[in-house]
Amino acid sequence: MTRVAVMGGDGIGPEVVDATMHILEQMELGLEFVRAEMGLACFERTGHHLPKETIKTLESSRAALFGAITTPPRPDPDHRSPILQLRNHFDLYANVRPCTPLLPELGKVDLNAVIVRENTEGMYTGREREEDGAVILERVVSERGCHRIVEKAIDVARSRGMHKVTCVHKANVLRRSDGLFRRVFYATMENSGLQADDMIVDATAAALISKPSVFECIVTLNLYGDILSDEAAALTGGLGMAPSANIGDSFALFEPVHGSAPDIAGKDIANPSATILTACMLLEYVDMKDAAIDLRSALVRTLKEGDRTRDIGGTLGTMRFAEKVAERLTSD
Ligand code: ATP
Repeated sequence: MTRVAVMGGDGIGPEVVDATMHILEQMELGLEFVRAEMGLACFERTGHHLPKETIKTLESSRAALFGAITTPPRPDPDHRSPILQLRNHFDLYANVRPCTPLLPELGKVDLNAVIVRENTEGMYTGREREEDGAVILERVVSERGCHRIVEKAIDVARSRGMHKVTCVHKANVLRRSDGLFRRVFYATMENSGLQADDMIVDATAAALISKPSVFECIVTLNLYGDILSDEAAALTGGLGMAPSANIGDSFALFEPVHGSAPDIAGKDIANPSATILTACMLLEYVDMKDAAIDLRSALVRTLKEGDRTRDIGGTLGTMRFAEKVAERLTSD
């Protein structure tokens, strides 16, 4: 039986994950769900942000569904985010974030794109050191890292019927590092049969608002992708509607784009749609495409028929909303 690890984490993480699991368990998918833990609450209970048992559970699973974690209020300088540790441990080098409003009325602009972000290099190496009154960060852009993220973007674009991949960079300033990325991008795209173009990251931030329809698949480096995908989420229904996947060659971890949102945690108002859409991506990954289509259409129907959480104009609580989605699934 295919095993899937499930981790709620902190803040609204457990709420949106439990709501999503309520639906997945009713779908009788034949998947084995195994609970694991990490994050701040886990640290307070066990003394570890990312216990060894959690890594073992993930190693014995095909994929994981994860909510969110809270960064410790006063992290020691050597604190390494568990999610960054997992991205490195499992070499989850691609972060895939679809940026399309689920219903046209939820979108602020006409954006129908996907962002494929390099997930293990760039600014997020964690290699910071203090030297002569300054803090120096090692930013890594490797040929191998660039090549494999562009290959992944080609796969993602093809699987979504897209025709173009846009490389987003800052090669006008970061001539060697981002210059390498742009060069590898065009070389890798050469025989892909897809159109290739590139754009500077600051111009992209503006164009997502002023000319959103020029984008199909965006491939970019770690920090740029992190920032642009939050912008894109805000343009396509808000953080409560934005799913994502961290994908490697043999394992994938699926998480909503939003964080643990401590301001709304415990209030039963978090929108679980981002996590439900994240679960759809997970189902596709474990070769359950039909189940993914059913779940997505039940979610669309629920929203269209006016059952919504507060962030998108409704009144339903987190679990109540999930129950409404589950009802639509069983009424098919
Ligand atoms: P963290 O430090 O864990 O990243 P954060 O509050 O800084 O948490 P997010 O969790 O991404 O960042 O949330 C930003 C804001 O977006 C929250 O304050 C919340 O109001 C809103 N938000 C995020 N996720 C949801 C959701 N699922 N449903 C409703 N609102 C949400």
